[in-house]
Amino acid sequence: MKNQKIYLDNAATTYMFPEVIDAMAESMRHNFGNPSSTHFFGRDAKGIIENVRKKIASFCNVTSAEIVFTSCGTESNNLILRSSVDFLGVDRIITSPIEHSCVMQTVDCLEQFKNVTIDYVQHNEKGEIDLDHLESLLKHSDKKTLVSIMHANNEIGNINPIKQIGEIAHQYNALYHSDMVQTLGHYIIDLENLPVDFASSSAHKFHGPKGVGFAYIKKGTGLKAQITGGGQERNMRSGTENLHGVLGMGKAFEISQRDYEKDRAYITDLKQYAINKIKEVFPETIFNGKSDDLENSLYTLISLSLPFQNGMMGFEMDLRGIAVSQGSACQSGAAKASKVLSTILSQETIDHTTPMRVSFSIDNTKEEIDAFMDTLIEIAEKTPSFK
Ligand code: PLP
Repeated sequence: MKNQKIYLDNAATTYMFPEVIDAMAESMRHNFGNPSSTHFFGRDAKGIIENVRKKIASFCNVTSAEIVFTSCGTESNNLILRSSVDFLGVDRIITSPIEHSCVMQTVDCLEQFKNVTIDYVQHNEKGEIDLDHLESLLKHSDKKTLVSIMHANNEIGNINPIKQIGEIAHQYNALYHSDMVQTLGHYIIDLENLPVDFASSSAHKFHGPKGVGFAYIKKGTGLKAQITGGGQERNMRSGTENLHGVLGMGKAFEISQRDYEKDRAYITDLKQYAINKIKEVFPETIFNGKSDDLENSLYTLISLSLPFQNGMMGFEMDLRGIAVSQGSACQSGAAKASKVLSTILSQETIDHTTPMRVSFSIDNTKEEIDAFMDTLIEIAEKTPSFK
């Protein structure tokens, strides 16, 4: 349902599909058993969980045993990274400096407390991973290595060549983990036929509920639980399952796969429309990363460095009822570029531009993009550094 506010922050989270809410509400009324109980109520709940597992596994072309339900993308990434170190003998992780903070912070902890060597693969100013550098990092070490490089970047939208990355990793006997939080549930992804050992996903990014996600853990890798207890999730993640959350995630995932072609075409058209408008009105805008390259970036987002400096931009947009992400932390009126942007952009660019991430869903319209543009122009015209 629409209100007057315009939501253009769908990479942060998405509204829940009404069909998802209905399915969850129905289940909350009728299914309350503990999936570990052996009586009818428990078996009923267990059946719901296992059906969702089967459904998600089948969409991703993997087996049910390879899908582990967790509480979010952050937990999935933590499980994979920490458990690889604890149980698979991984003593070196190669990652990129523009991963999500839940990967960056976790590898920092592993370096500090578990003595794991962390190496960062280089990339260019467009955020493209240097595959030769990755290969040379792998070639020159005998350590047991895990490569952790995301599928698509949540801030600049770059889609990384995960097939090539995984093949290089495997060529040197390294394991490959990919944070797929921005792509699973937005694309059709055949995990079985990708050289990926571990992946993560989060339901609230694809119109499902918050507090639920999943990890893909390829069979035979030997990963073990980080959360221990009652042995749920085939001993991979203890704790009574988030029954209704899992059900909602299953429904949202199913809808995302069913409507993929239609939704992708609709949102891509919106994105192209927004790109054209921005280029027309603010021709000096920098599209961060590859976010104006429709082939190689998420169809759901654009990342901008607007050609003037306004540290209050996010706040000003918010005041006018438009929700975007500022791609920065605002400190005493001056925009401080995010870690990702400060890694790929020059200080000169950062000092003279205003970062903004605009991200779309099927709920958005061209009228909303027009309203967004009008607001942007209004704010720009009041900004002293706008010429
Ligand atoms: N990884 C990426 C690429 C993300 O965009 C996010 C969410 O912003 C996460 C991980 C964390 O997911 P969650 O919010 O489910 O913990």
